[in-house]
Amino acid sequence: MNYKTDIGYRKEILTKLLNNLTIHESEIIQALYDDFKKPAFEAVITETSYVISELKDTIKNIHKWAKPKKVFPSILNFPSKDYIYKDPYGKVLIIAPWNYPYQLALCPLISAVAAGNQVVLKPSELTPNTSAIIAKIIEKTFHINHVEVILGGVETSQKLLSQRWDYIFFTGSVAVGKIVAKAAAENLTPVTLELGGKNPCIVDETANLKLAAKRIVWGKFINAGQTCIAPDYILVQKDMKNKFVDYLKEEITLAYGTNPEVSPDFARIINEKNFSRLVKMIEADKVIFGGQTEITNCYIAPTLIEESNLDSLIMEDEIFGPLLPILTYQSEADINAIISKYEKPLSLYVFTENKSFAEKTIQTYSFGGGCINDTLIHFSNKKLPFGGVGHSGIGAYHGSLSFDTFSHKKGIVKKANWLDLPMRYAPYKGKLNTIKKLLKWL
Ligand code: NAD
Repeated sequence: MNYKTDIGYRKEILTKLLNNLTIHESEIIQALYDDFKKPAFEAVITETSYVISELKDTIKNIHKWAKPKKVFPSILNFPSKDYIYKDPYGKVLIIAPWNYPYQLALCPLISAVAAGNQVVLKPSELTPNTSAIIAKIIEKTFHINHVEVILGGVETSQKLLSQRWDYIFFTGSVAVGKIVAKAAAENLTPVTLELGGKNPCIVDETANLKLAAKRIVWGKFINAGQTCIAPDYILVQKDMKNKFVDYLKEEITLAYGTNPEVSPDFARIINEKNFSRLVKMIEADKVIFGGQTEITNCYIAPTLIEESNLDSLIMEDEIFGPLLPILTYQSEADINAIISKYEKPLSLYVFTENKSFAEKTIQTYSFGGGCINDTLIHFSNKKLPFGGVGHSGIGAYHGSLSFDTFSHKKGIVKKANWLDLPMRYAPYKGKLNTIKKLLKWL
């Protein structure tokens, strides 16, 4: 079977994948738990069910997405019929991160296969259990020449990057994103870079503070804060701060109890390296809630930090852990000064009942995507493009856009032979004035 040209075969193999992913769902959930104690509930809503839903949607729509799209022809080419053909790029390399190690490996893989490509996937070395089960399922589903999983760390990744690919899809840090972009440039390989950033979360004086606190606590501490689109820091209107902090404390306790270390619903930091990186950011005198750490199980409590210094370590880079700095503002100029200090983030959130402030905020700043009065949930709508801008990434995917990401769009004119207007052909003598008039009229 030819996966490049046979859409029926692509649908068939994706259905086989759906079957295998479903059969192994409980093993996947267990692997995610073994890797960093990802709670089963979070594993289901953010990983397994998400992948299944993306896969079902792809299987349902593959014929529609793959079909050449007829577009209105240009009168200049009359008579013709014009189309956009979706052509597979060829050999695609996918490099995945550890934080949603299943979903962020499988979703691009599904779309790359749907679009007719050959795929090599390099999952993260930091989640060995999840990566092993991914390798097992892929091996069971695909011929090795069609889709292959290569396990390994930085060295393996670099070796793969030194080869020639027709498309590279990378999800990970900004620093490694630059390495990938450089490697891709060698062969002018097109890339999608899904990176990170410092995501602001604004809470103004009109916001429903209690609900805002609940939704922010959920979005920040799910996956123990190791989410690329998690709110990185809070910007709360100065007069609201104390009340808002009280609500945050209340919501953290409601979600994870008085000792989150024993909560079955709170994940761990991925490894000691990241644990130490995060611990260095905690300045004891600024902690207003939480702050407990335990290296033996890479535990860091959900922690609120009162911050006013943009030069502090925690405000330097993306936090990527359960530490939430709270900054205050008095005017929109203060907000602007803080947000503008950083590269364009992957997400921005604004909590307000003031519609014009919300609209102004989302239109003023450049960022990947976001929400008004919630966090993270823009990720879940397949109709919305997901991706960054500037340092937070290049390109976007999800739903039909993922299929397009892995397809070259080929413009084709199908010209008819029953008429051949002589105007464009040389010799041009005597035709210039007529063509000028014609082009003006068009
Ligand atoms: P990472 O960049 O360290 O690693 C990602 C992948 O790149 C891994 O497979 C790893 O093996 C490989 N890699 C690491 N160093 C490399 C090097 N020097 N050369 C070549 N390959 C290398 O990222 P991570 O720690 O796995 O994930 C966390 C980061 O990913 C955060 O910055 C987060 O914001 C970002 N992220 C972004 C998204 C998104 O959708 N935009 C999603 C999840 C995570």
